Amino acid sequence: MAKKGRVFSGARPTGRQHLGNYLGAIKNYVAMQDEYDCVYCIVDVHALTTVKTTEDLKLNTTEMALDWLAAGIRPEDSILFVQSHVPQVMELHTYLSMVTQLGKLTDLPTFKEKIRQQPDNVNYGLLGYPVLMTADIVLYKTDVVPVGIDQAPHVEFAREIVRSFNYRYHTKVLIEPQVKHTEVLKVLGIDGQEKMSKSLDNHIELASPPQETIRRVKEMVTDPARVKRTDPGNPDICNVFTMHKILSPQDEVEMINVECRRAGIGCVDCKLRFANNLNKHLEPFRAKRAELASQESYVQEVLNEGSKRARAIAQQTMTEVRDAMALP
Ligand code: SF4
Repeated sequence: MAKKGRVFSGARPTGRQHLGNYLGAIKNYVAMQDEYDCVYCIVDVHALTTVKTTEDLKLNTTEMALDWLAAGIRPEDSILFVQSHVPQVMELHTYLSMVTQLGKLTDLPTFKEKIRQQPDNVNYGLLGYPVLMTADIVLYKTDVVPVGIDQAPHVEFAREIVRSFNYRYHTKVLIEPQVKHTEVLKVLGIDGQEKMSKSLDNHIELASPPQETIRRVKEMVTDPARVKRTDPGNPDICNVFTMHKILSPQDEVEMINVECRRAGIGCVDCKLRFANNLNKHLEPFRAKRAELASQESYVQEVLNEGSKRARAIAQQTMTEVRDAMALP
């Protein structure tokens, strides 16, 4: 089947992935492979804007790639690579920075938010982040970028930079990426309050042993009004029920929806059911992960091969870019 075009998406190397990563992004990455040429990048250079040390970067990159591959990213179809392995992106970033107005970058809400988050480390990389992101996208002649509705302004900003570049150099060499709206599932952590995240330690790791998954699920916050087993609950405000709806069989979901409201099922039993369903769901993933991990240097080979393919596209783009700019 002819593919609809090229998709690009990048994520920071955060190490072992959790359920939020899986439901919010990886699942979609896997599905898109059937329709698009997919380029998936582990953006280690972007990570440098916030990390204090690089000692975990290599391990985090490998662990994350391993999870993506075990979840179904097919390296024979898709390009999976590490951002810093394609140095052309830094060159393109520099050229694009010359057509990007400083005021626009300092005005971006994301930049202001970063200043708030790390006032003692307001580095240039934070400011230039959207320019480097644009370079990531256009270097690979990307047609579409899958984003949730709240991320769409970032792609719009990239489109503006592309238009500025093409206008300045009277060219059409850079492609304006289109937004592919995807429903990004916001998965709450086990605290039931914040988005699932490793840094908040409210996550459920995909590759954990089943017993550890059960332990984490047992910690999940439920309907706070349900103090005693005999108190009726409200599944509509319970994160455990939200998770059941995503991963448990329909008849079980319906049963919980009824029984919770009349205290026919207790939270301990309800959570255990979810943990068991989750473990069952993750069984093939965990088996494949273990198999891939046992093949020494497999992940490294995939990343090297992906980088080689990415560099070939990047080299071609940069030849065209330099020509368009009439560089000596
Ligand atoms: S029984 Fe299940 S859905 Fe109801 S409050 Fe407890 S954990 Fe939530």
